[in-house]
Amino acid sequence: MNMTIPDARVMDVRTSLPRHKTLRYGRRKPSDIRSAAMHHSATKSGTPEAFAGYHVTTNGWPGIAYHFVIQKDGVIYWCNDPETISYHVDNSNRHALGICIVGDFRTQQPTAAQLDAANRLIQHLQVQIPTMKQVLGHQEYPGYAWKNCPAFPMGKFRSDYSQYLQKPVDKPDKPQQVPVAISLNGSLLSVTGFLQGGVFMLPVRAVANATGGKVEWIAATQDVRVNGKDLNEKIIEGSAYAPAREMAAALCLQAEWDGKTQTVKLRGCVTE
Ligand SMILES: [Zn+2]
Repeated sequence: MNMTIPDARVMDVRTSLPRHKTLRYGRRKPSDIRSAAMHHSATKSGTPEAFAGYHVTTNGWPGIAYHFVIQKDGVIYWCNDPETISYHVDNSNRHALGICIVGDFRTQQPTAAQLDAANRLIQHLQVQIPTMKQVLGHQEYPGYAWKNCPAFPMGKFRSDYSQYLQKPVDKPDKPQQVPVAISLNGSLLSVTGFLQGGVFMLPVRAVANATGGKVEWIAATQDVRVNGKDLNEKIIEGSAYAPAREMAAALCLQAEWDGKTQTVKLRGCVTE
């Protein structure tokens, strides 16, 4: 699984944590996972190594209970494959993925860095594991109403998380390319250009050929020139596109946008 999460630090400790000499956890398909189970460590501090040691030595379990541990500085420790059926919510283990936030939230608060990392982690996991629709506190699982874990209010955590989802975490996508038609002196060309980020881009070679312009390809600098003029071209699938304004200047054309027909209308210059 890809665990590169924008603006989060993930340490892969899956192979370095203490584990049982002989016992091994069972495995599942990622699509068996239905929920993320939130836990606190119920210790004021602690490391994944310490938790794994306790779970193996004291509890006699195959390995650490959690799939992820989030330290106070927001670093996410990746402890088990999502496919691992580890022990953390008893009868629900097969369908739950365990996320432990380090701290004792009966007396402490999760840090802002921990909550931020938890939100980014869950958001990332829900993309990778679409069946993981629910985010529940340990005590919301059947048989655990008595257990004060994760000891922070899950209702607030979920509503903060749903607001979090609406904020763009990743960089915004490149502006969309909207195809546009091109006409020359009133007749439609068989090629199209596109509108991207407010700039009309036209296919250099086709428009230059149609207007008798000379196209040069400068291999050394990977530059396209039209009638000797350098263009701010963009190569898409092997074809060069350049801004309509630059094309018009290089080919002595007038360019006009017709929004009704979504067409860039090119006309030969009126020479006096
Ligand atoms: Zn718990």
